[in-house]
Amino acid sequence: MPAISEIISKLPGTKTSIFSVMSKMANDHNAINLSQGFPNFETDQKLKDLVTEAMNNGFNQYPPDSGVHELREQIVSKIKLLYGKSYDANTEITVTSGATEALYTAITAFVNKGDEVIVLKPAYDTYEPTIKLSGGIPIQIQLKGENYTVDWDEVRSAISSKTRMIIINTPHNPTGTILSEKDMLQLQEILSDTNVILLSDEVYEHLIFDKEQHQSASKFSELSERAIVCASFGKTFHNTGWKTGYCVAPEKLMKEIRKIHEVTVFSVNHPMQRAYAEYLKNADNYLKLSKFYQTKRDLFLNLIKDSKFTYTASKGTYYQLLNFSGITDENDVNFAERLVKEYGIASIPVSVFNINEKDNSQLRFCFAKTDDTLEMAAEILCKL
Ligand code: PMP
Ligand code: GLN
Repeated sequence: MPAISEIISKLPGTKTSIFSVMSKMANDHNAINLSQGFPNFETDQKLKDLVTEAMNNGFNQYPPDSGVHELREQIVSKIKLLYGKSYDANTEITVTSGATEALYTAITAFVNKGDEVIVLKPAYDTYEPTIKLSGGIPIQIQLKGENYTVDWDEVRSAISSKTRMIIINTPHNPTGTILSEKDMLQLQEILSDTNVILLSDEVYEHLIFDKEQHQSASKFSELSERAIVCASFGKTFHNTGWKTGYCVAPEKLMKEIRKIHEVTVFSVNHPMQRAYAEYLKNADNYLKLSKFYQTKRDLFLNLIKDSKFTYTASKGTYYQLLNFSGITDENDVNFAERLVKEYGIASIPVSVFNINEKDNSQLRFCFAKTDDTLEMAAEILCKL
């Protein structure tokens, strides 16, 4: 048998995800893990009971490929209630294996070789490799200033006949910033005479602070006609390991997305879908989350207020960026490593999300943790 002589990587520049790297390092060094974004507290017992009940009731075989119908109907009701838009449960919603799969299928369905996709940087780490897998070209645009705002004139100038898609993410990982209504209206106006699809990553839609409103793409009638909105139950309901999310889009777009979904995963775990369908009937289960996480953000920021870190309070997500230029001038990757190994606390160096991995002396800390964990973490951070 001839040996495999040459491997031609489809993603030669892509490294192991920083989330895997930092969580492993945290485990290896028994450090407090504020790196990868997941809660260290339990999901609601009611939800676990609903999954068990669904299993005991025999929902253990393939569900419909686009998702359990009752769940799709609940998603429709939630979007109508929150954003006023009516989607069709039969043709415009697909339940996916986490938002990761929703993003993957959306990009794969529409990006062809040579197509350009506008990505606002810093950006979540799956967008660009997925674009490249389809032969697309990411066009990176830097978010501006301390508050990471979008320069919409720059976006306008970047759009050409080659532009197939623009990806936005609000609330934004890793910066904790949000897009305003004005931002969305500007985007709507810029895209109005174009053939550009909007991919809107809204996995943190229910984690938004200081009485701000989430500006979903589905709220804006013209934008929603060209938008694929991606969401994550894992993020919302403290069970990232269940890997369940969904995407919504007008039928014309959803038809193509479903083709990719069918050949990628076909369908998504059945008992969890039954459980979410029941759980979503009580809107309070998601409406209470902003307050819950704002309390955690405020606790964390209050605990580190006398430290040498500087920051702007996160407006959404469960991440807080901290600037460490008052502590050291080493680069963020080195500092993050040293924090794990020497101080027992893990974070995410923000440079990995930036254009050319630019280092701005910032680390991302996940505050989806018990108060005890946040207190222990803050004690370490205050000693630096
Ligand atoms: N988009 C963003 C911005 C994220 O932070 C994450 C991580 N949850 C995802 C997508 C993927 O979500 P999921 O865990 O549901 O696949
Ligand atoms: N979204 C999570 C984060 O930003 C991690 C998801 C993952 O591990 N891929 O930390």
